[in-house]
Amino acid sequence: MKDCLFCKIVSGDIPAATVFEDDKVVVFKDIHPKADVHLLMVPRVHIASLDEVNESHDAVMAHMMRLLPKIAKEQGLNTGFRTIINTGPGGGQEIYHLHIHLLGGRRMPGFA
Ligand code: AMP
Ligand code: ZN
Repeated sequence: MKDCLFCKIVSGDIPAATVFEDDKVVVFKDIHPKADVHLLMVPRVHIASLDEVNESHDAVMAHMMRLLPKIAKEQGLNTGFRTIINTGPGGGQEIYHLHIHLLGGRRMPGFA
């Protein structure tokens, strides 16, 4: 997708601090970390948001869910982690390429 920041990271046109990649996803460090560990997992395929997910994405969505705990453990998050998906203006989404925030480390505040 032209003019999509995360598509440009996926293609390597824009550099990122990548910690994992395979044929379906790229995982890189958030540029403004909100926790000791703050990664973004993005599908290689451009999906604008969770609102745009359909049956054709079932394989990549399942892949991401199964991969998250593995990446978290690789990052040393042995006692758990937090995942966040912001969706649409009402969810505070800033970049319209689906991404899963993976957060963890010391002093994770309670949520809500
Ligand atoms: P969201 O509000 O869920 O759309 O979050 C977008 C996230 O992308 C924010 O946490 C930003 O800090 C992060 N971000 C923006 N640009 C970059 C970049 N070039 N590399 C890594 N993370 C980025
Ligand atoms: Zn994109």
